[in-house]
Amino acid sequence: MIDIPTSLGAFSGRVMSTQTGTDPIGRLIPVVRKYWGFDTLRPLQAEAMTAVLEGRDSVVVLPTGGGKSLCFQVPAVTFTGVAIVVSPLLSLMKDQTDALQQCGIAAACLSSMQTSREQQEVIRQLDQGQLKLLYLAPERLTTARFTDLLQRLKPSFFAVDEAHCISSWGHEFRPDYRRLSMLRKMFPKTSIHAFTATATRRVRVDIAEHLALRNPEFHIGLFDRPNLTYRVERKRKKWEQICSVIEQHKGESGIIYCISRKNVEDLAASLREVGYKALPYHAGLDDSVRKRNQDAFLRETVDIIVATVAFGMGIDKSNVRYVLHAAAPKSIENYQQEAGRAGRDGLPADCVLLWGPGDFGMWRRIFGDMPPDAAPAAMQKLSQMSRYCESMTCRHQALVKYFGQSLDKRNCRACDVCLSAPEPVDDSQIIAQKILSCVVRLDEQHDAEYLEHVLVGSHDGPTLASGHESLSTFGILKEHDRRSVRDWIVQLRSDGYLQTDDGDSALSVTPAGWLVLRGNDDPELVNPRRAVRRLTIAHPAAESGAEEQLFEELRKLRKSVADDRNVPAFVIFSDAALLDMARKRPATLEQFLRVNGVGEKKCSEFGPKFIKCIAEWCHAHSVPSNDGMSSETGAPQGIRIPPKPTTSGAELEAYKLFDRGVSLEDVASNVKRAKSTVVRYLEDYLRSNQKGSPEPWVTAELHTKILESVERVGGDRLRPLFDDLDGAADYDQIRISLACLKDGATDTD
Ligand code: ADP
Repeated sequence: MIDIPTSLGAFSGRVMSTQTGTDPIGRLIPVVRKYWGFDTLRPLQAEAMTAVLEGRDSVVVLPTGGGKSLCFQVPAVTFTGVAIVVSPLLSLMKDQTDALQQCGIAAACLSSMQTSREQQEVIRQLDQGQLKLLYLAPERLTTARFTDLLQRLKPSFFAVDEAHCISSWGHEFRPDYRRLSMLRKMFPKTSIHAFTATATRRVRVDIAEHLALRNPEFHIGLFDRPNLTYRVERKRKKWEQICSVIEQHKGESGIIYCISRKNVEDLAASLREVGYKALPYHAGLDDSVRKRNQDAFLRETVDIIVATVAFGMGIDKSNVRYVLHAAAPKSIENYQQEAGRAGRDGLPADCVLLWGPGDFGMWRRIFGDMPPDAAPAAMQKLSQMSRYCESMTCRHQALVKYFGQSLDKRNCRACDVCLSAPEPVDDSQIIAQKILSCVVRLDEQHDAEYLEHVLVGSHDGPTLASGHESLSTFGILKEHDRRSVRDWIVQLRSDGYLQTDDGDSALSVTPAGWLVLRGNDDPELVNPRRAVRRLTIAHPAAESGAEEQLFEELRKLRKSVADDRNVPAFVIFSDAALLDMARKRPATLEQFLRVNGVGEKKCSEFGPKFIKCIAEWCHAHSVPSNDGMSSETGAPQGIRIPPKPTTSGAELEAYKLFDRGVSLEDVASNVKRAKSTVVRYLEDYLRSNQKGSPEPWVTAELHTKILESVERVGGDRLRPLFDDLDGAADYDQIRISLACLKDGATDTD
């Protein structure tokens, strides 16, 4: 059985198997598959859905992109009545109902943006029991006319989205939300579920109290967003800094936040002048212009929206690949919310914050106009923001700490601080002992290069003296890459555990080194820096040149399908679904349905077009289709729904051949798969077996070159590496080498 967290601060992360029979999740899984086509549930989704299904009030706090909508949408589909969703913004409602309809779910919204005829039609559908979900703004829900209608319809439950708007302690208090307190009185038997991304403890309690929730379950997720890379930079050459971020994300969607309307206008105009597709958004613009600009961004006719904080709350766009703050935001809550709009689809995305002392001065002036009782709290939040900018602690750590949580990772590998910090080696003492004892076994007669070759058991370096191959320390560090071993030798020397005599490069063990050998000292070794890695990335299709190209083709098709239907592109398919398509290259509808994010309706409606596009692309590029069907998606961790059936056990067969060091060509012909697929199998094999060396598929010498290139240009995209290596390595060799990086260089893992 599922054990449901009932207290504040309960975390998920627990992996559960699929439940069947009377278990609620067992009932929901076929629904998730059929309509959404997802393979996994994200952390806490199962718990939140169970609460809805079993009619217990709840408060669900998940970070932006955590998948809150699914928590109420899935149970709503299984109930006979209509679920009422309270949502603060009309555009958001429209996008959500569009997206649900594309999945084949009867959903509608009632809003002032509709004509009275459209509204009548929705009421008719409601009356006839045709709707599963109805989205509404709070002010409409609380009118007497509407509550009468609802009394008659007996809603299955209420979901209050963006529930922090109910609390004056929250950063987006909306008085209309307060009126929702009448729901409990008018519908005493109907469960109420509140959802929010930003909630301090105080806000959560406020939400529960104002909605008069009965003994609510609190499901509080981890606020960390591991797919986001945070970077904080002092403004030096602001324009260059901004352009460099945009350049890294050419053709991708990004949001740039500024403090003032004037900054927004100026920056948007300057960007357009140099050829970027950018539009402004702020509260001072005419409503129709604002809406047009927002739509252009959602529909991807422009890549960049330059905005004040007025932009974003109604934005459901899942494939924003970067959020750039051109000035410091006014609070960490704001930052979390705004930066959180990047990468909702769970794929890599960048959050860059440029700040200068002037930003804080500007906010202080703005706060000067606030009511005197509100200003001190705002000032306090501002100084927390300023500390965040100047701090040198891990950004992921600092953000979750602000919300009362902690991360147990020592190095997040996804922020400016951690990526520029040396990473301590876990078993430093043992590694140091292995190195020092090898020096002793070599009779302290050899230099660092010789030592390195003996330690990794390599034959392609200096000629080994007789007997050295049979030393117990020969290959004793073979699971590590040569570069790390070389680095550790240098560290031991500079820390005084090894020495060389003047004029002689032979290494010998110092008295301090002997202490280590006897276990009386524990040196601190660090891994060589593979800095800048994640900072130069965030193309979701960072997998291979081929996948990147096919992904781009599929994006174009998605846009044209979306334009035909007059809906935003991400409503048709998320980037994550396109990426999975590019990986799997399905050739039939049955295979298309196995793509993560393809449900039955989308499969029959869009499948033929996308399959055709894939087939044509495969033909033009001599790549077999249906070739990656057995590969898994890079879906975020969570509850695993049993995998859709895979085509063959070819991968396992390939693993056995890899164990014997068989060449890629021979493996491909043995398992009857294309070489590109076999390369993917090999990557998984090297990663899962934590092989530090890619030999015999890539020579040690080439591996070293590739690692050096990673150091120069980062290891998250293949193209820059390929270019940097200038023909020395092909894409497959680069992929194989990267798979041997202990920490997994690519971002999709
Ligand atoms: P939130 O409201 O918490 O910000 P959303 O509900 O908008 O998040 O979900 C963000 C994105 O993640 C959407 O594109 C959604 O379809 C997708 N998503 C949600 N749950 C899952 C899941 N279990 N597997 C894959 N994608 C999911």
